[in-house]
Amino acid sequence: MNMIDIDHMFGKITLSIIKPDAVKKGHIVPILSEIIHAGFNIIAIKMTELSIKSAQIFYAEHQKKLFFESLIKFMSSGPIVSVILEKKNAVKDFRVLIGNTNPVYAKKGTIRYLYATSLEENAIHGSDSDQNAFKECLFYFSHREIFFKKDL
Ligand code: ATP
Ligand code: MG
Repeated sequence: MNMIDIDHMFGKITLSIIKPDAVKKGHIVPILSEIIHAGFNIIAIKMTELSIKSAQIFYAEHQKKLFFESLIKFMSSGPIVSVILEKKNAVKDFRVLIGNTNPVYAKKGTIRYLYATSLEENAIHGSDSDQNAFKECLFYFSHREIFFKKDL
């Protein structure tokens, strides 16, 4: 994987995280199955853990929010699985697949409807723009860890 390939992927990739609550409950495989079933290709994957510092950087856009401290504590409370997903309209389609941030409002059948516990412990993350997807993918993965399918 080189820089040219990464540029070529702009607009076709999104970054997802299976959050600590879902990992703890044993939902990694069922969630990945839903994602693959919905037509996304996994082009990078790793199980990792966020330090307090890394979680603060990842969610920096929320640093002024009242829930920030609690969110950081939660996101660094255990292992996570980060994944780069490839598909046409990846960002938009993936946000539809995961459902509303608050599981109370998530549509039936969405990943958060099925697996989230609360507004904070909501099982899964999805990038909210192509620009952020690009940034977030490079936050978790080096070029050597991303496997773009040439024929797609
Ligand atoms: P994510 O960025 O994790 O995909 P999102 O884009 O749907 O979620 P954001 O507004 O970016 O929602 O919030 C980031 C995360 O912060 C949420 O997924 C949730 O875990 C947590 N969060 C958001 N709002 C609240 C809140 N009011 N109280 C507690 N936690 C919250
Ligand atoms: Mg967000």
